[in-house]
Amino acid sequence: MPINALFAAPAANWQTYEQTLRDAFEELSLDVNLSCEFAPEAVDYIVYAPSSPLQDFTPYSRAKAVLSLWAGVEKITGNPTLKIPLARMVDPGMTMGMIEWVCGHVLRHHLGMDRHILGQDGEWLSGYPPLASDRRVTVLGLGELGGAVARALAQFGFAVTGWSRSAKELPGIDTLHGDTGLTEALRRADILVLLLPLTAATENLLSADRLAQMPKGAFIVNPGRGPLIDDDALLAALDSGQIAHATLDVFRVEPLPRQHPFWAHPGVTVTPHIASETRAKTASRVIAENIRRGEAGEAFLHLVDRAAGY
Ligand code: NAP
Repeated sequence: MPINALFAAPAANWQTYEQTLRDAFEELSLDVNLSCEFAPEAVDYIVYAPSSPLQDFTPYSRAKAVLSLWAGVEKITGNPTLKIPLARMVDPGMTMGMIEWVCGHVLRHHLGMDRHILGQDGEWLSGYPPLASDRRVTVLGLGELGGAVARALAQFGFAVTGWSRSAKELPGIDTLHGDTGLTEALRRADILVLLLPLTAATENLLSADRLAQMPKGAFIVNPGRGPLIDDDALLAALDSGQIAHATLDVFRVEPLPRQHPFWAHPGVTVTPHIASETRAKTASRVIAENIRRGEAGEAFLHLVDRAAGY
């Protein structure tokens, strides 16, 4: 009997994913019936974007798992109607994109590109940028994305510190964890990269007190989630010079409202949540592999710990 996989995501995603999902099912010889419309009680798997209108999972009585197309799952972890396993997206294409985006923005600040690409006023600004080995970068979050980004930054020669919830060992990275580890991780952050998930424990993590623990004139790069940072505290830290510049890809409200002070602040670079997207081809293989596992009675990949929220 074919497996029924419901595609529950905005209509535009269907164009992107329909063929790549079908190809990935074929590669694994899976007999999957993929559609945006099924009677709920006939659905075996739900391929899911958290922006989907589907929010009540109660009628999907036969479904074995929800397979998210997104890495960040904060919009769905607290859904009380979701009683089946939830797998989040870990996609090699997305990881590569995140490495490139973060390294680009870290290098911009490290090399002082804004200052050294000279204006038409003919002012000949001198002063060599330091080497990466003279710059300390802290990455908050050492998961799929943060771990990969930390390794890439270390390959440039940056002195990289990483911080996570549990203790970790990563070659070439100085790792810290827990509350006491955070203070030290921030103290070393000439450049701070946030790649934490949004959970009850990480919301407003970068408060006024924690911003004050960073070196004066530090840089922030946030492709994680907007609410990780207290917006007002960040604006105050930018105004005082405690923080030199913040490159922000994610915001409490997206698109960032036109009247938000981030738009006009000279110390803020706004990018429109484009740090890295799920890549259809590689991500479809991850979805197919999880369906294969579900059918074979094997453990799903990338399961979300609903209590921890990520
Ligand atoms: P992940 O693999 O789940 O890793 C999360 C990391 O954060 C882990 O190292 C985890 O620690 C750490 N962490 C979680 N809660 C913590 C806490 N309370 N204190 C300290 N560390 C904590 O997630 P990922 O795949 O790397 O993705 C990270 C986030 O990136 C996503 O949740 C999403 O919000 C964001 N994202 C943004 C974009 C974009 O385009 N802007 C694209 C994709 C993803 P442990 O290792 O100890 O568990």
